[in-house]
Amino acid sequence: MVVLSGVNKHFGALHVLQDVDLEIARGEVVVLLGPSGSGKSTLCRTINRLETIDSGAISIDGRPLPAEGKELARLRAEVGMVFQSFNLFAHKTVLENVVLAQVKVRKVAKAEAERTARELLERVGVAAQADKYPAQLSGGQQQRVAIARALAMKPKVMLFDEPTSALDPEMVNEVLEVMRSLAAEGMTMVVVTHEMGFARSAADRVLFMADGRIVEESTPDAFFSAPRTDRAKDFLSKIL
Ligand code: ADP
Ligand code: MG
Repeated sequence: MVVLSGVNKHFGALHVLQDVDLEIARGEVVVLLGPSGSGKSTLCRTINRLETIDSGAISIDGRPLPAEGKELARLRAEVGMVFQSFNLFAHKTVLENVVLAQVKVRKVAKAEAERTARELLERVGVAAQADKYPAQLSGGQQQRVAIARALAMKPKVMLFDEPTSALDPEMVNEVLEVMRSLAAEGMTMVVVTHEMGFARSAADRVLFMADGRIVEESTPDAFFSAPRTDRAKDFLSKIL
């Protein structure tokens, strides 16, 4: 579903992604771990072309990600992204937040977009909040709306970049539960998270990044019980 080959990216002199090769299968859940600054967010952002790359190639569902133009906009719509900050439109209601891009980008008729939006809000457990504004919702509810909004684009892949890091602890699980159910329904997912419980239970594969490289790749069981590299051992010793 997602293929990166020989991807390199610099920020000035900083070589932030170094020869990254990665293949993610349809329906696979990949958890991306690594110390702060290792390039996890940049890797996610290159997958939907929020960041350009200097060399290498990226394809989504067999089609190369073009540099620009209509085709890019179409492919980008197939890659949903949920960030640490919820990024909802503050002056739009919850329902409008989920309707908007469907109408603007996907050219879905308004009535159909609303139907889809209500179904998705139901699915993430915030249907009762549909007519409220984001500021009237808890952080966990806002993040679930952000997930519904991304799903409304009918993405083939969902990228989650620390989706629970800005939440109060008691709201983390409600968001992880939505992510778990998506994973169980077969969504292809890339998840950057500090929630090791989620990584252990939901990931098909763990990738560990350090200094812009994927230095370790294994099943969650193998990674957490027997990390192979010193970098991974050091990382785990600090967080577990
Ligand atoms: P992570 O998500 O693993 O913490 P990032 O991908 O955010 O890492 O960042 C990797 C490195 O690239 C860091 O050293 C960071 O400071 C740098 N970086 C990220 N974005 C930019 C940018 N827009 N301009 C310059 N440097 C950046
Ligand atoms: Mg990051």
